Amino acid sequence: MREKCERMCICCRTHKQKSEMLRCVRQKGEDVVLDLKQSLFGRGAYICADVQCIKRVNKTGALRRAFKSNIKPEVFDCLNKIAKNLEDSFGKNEEF
Ligand SMILES: [Zn+2]
Repeated sequence: MREKCERMCICCRTHKQKSEMLRCVRQKGEDVVLDLKQSLFGRGAYICADVQCIKRVNKTGALRRAFKSNIKPEVFDCLNKIAKNLEDSFGKNEEF
């Protein structure tokens, strides 16, 4: 039986646990924001917490399509930061 809290990545369309994903939310009448705590109400879209997916989402405009709305540059800045952190920690793991 499929876990109820699985969500589909808007980028690669893989289903994963919420905890392995990043959530973006658009609250009524508001801009799309990154919901790092996954606690905001509103229409959500999920992206794998994975460097490849984050980068692809930034490039392809999948977020804009998912929300049918423009996404503020801050959201992409934040995603880029997360991708960079993931890359850095991955690099460190490789070293040791
Ligand atoms: Zn993905």
